Amino acid sequence: AKGAGRNRTHFFSPDLLASIESRHRLVGQLRAALRDDAFTLHYQPKVNAATRELTGVEALLRWTLPDGQAVSPAEFIPVAEESGLIVPLGGWVLREACAQARAWQLALGRAVPVAVNISGLQFTQADFVEQVRAALEGAQLDPHLLELEITESMLVTQPQQASDRLRSLRDLGVRLSIDDFGTGFSSLSYLKLFPVDMLKIDRAFVQDVTTDRNDVAIVEAVIGIGQALNLQVLAEGVETPQQVQTLLNLGCAAMQGYHFARPMPAAQAQAWLTDWPGANDS
Ligand code: C2E
Ligand code: CA
Ligand code: CA
Ligand code: CA
Repeated sequence: AKGAGRNRTHFFSPDLLASIESRHRLVGQLRAALRDDAFTLHYQPKVNAATRELTGVEALLRWTLPDGQAVSPAEFIPVAEESGLIVPLGGWVLREACAQARAWQLALGRAVPVAVNISGLQFTQADFVEQVRAALEGAQLDPHLLELEITESMLVTQPQQASDRLRSLRDLGVRLSIDDFGTGFSSLSYLKLFPVDMLKIDRAFVQDVTTDRNDVAIVEAVIGIGQALNLQVLAEGVETPQQVQTLLNLGCAAMQGYHFARPMPAAQAQAWLTDWPGANDS
């Protein structure tokens, strides 16, 4: 009994209980936020560092609690996924991002492609393709201006189903990219199954690319895969001029990161888009 008691004490540690409670509370808060329209999107520019051309923006979800405290997506997205709330939340993100891209097209007189992060659970919903189609139609957005960012893990569990789904999305005209590329399971032969347009090299490989030979080798390998399969390659998390130069030397011109711009609220992003190119040259 003593042993069992000790085990129990160990198992139901105050920390674990607290974390279960805080998860539970977070789910309730997420549900309320969805109901009260408390989410916003920030937008981070993607550029071609060689031509200085703007190639689009990535929409990133933001959540501020009623008391003004911001909760990081790294914290609430996993909870939204476990609770299933990511499905309605992801639907909102799609509609909002499409509406914003259309608004910018009208306000700025030029196309601003928008990329949306898609969660695994969202992607496997039977009506996902229909959701995307409806979001595009609701916003009157040209499908070529929507890009969906998916991850490798979403492709490996049911590759055939995933491949069919990507093909349907492609048929709609949307663009597809693989996010965090290099951290998952992809191989050359595997990638051939999936009709994607772009690989996004994870920030983890960009961070030390100016000093770490292994990261250089990985970036070079991804660029090689991109060339072999005719896919665009973008480096994310680019923070310094040295990283920009190294990536350009390696042959990767598409970039995204704090060096160019942080994710910004829509109004601020619009001002940035209006001023670009030129204002942010460094
Ligand atoms: P991600 O899709 O890989 O997004 C890139 C993350 O890196 C973003 O963090 C962005 O703010 C950050 N970042 C961009 N440039 C730099 C840089 O130069 N340096 C550093 N250190 N960080 C940079 P964020 O916004 O906190 O989002 C974290 C993750 O949450 C995203 O990673 C994505 O997986 C997920 N997420 C965000 N919005 C959504 C969404 O609408 N739906 C889904 N399903 N997931 C989302
Ligand atoms: Ca992303
Ligand atoms: Ca990423
Ligand atoms: Ca990431």
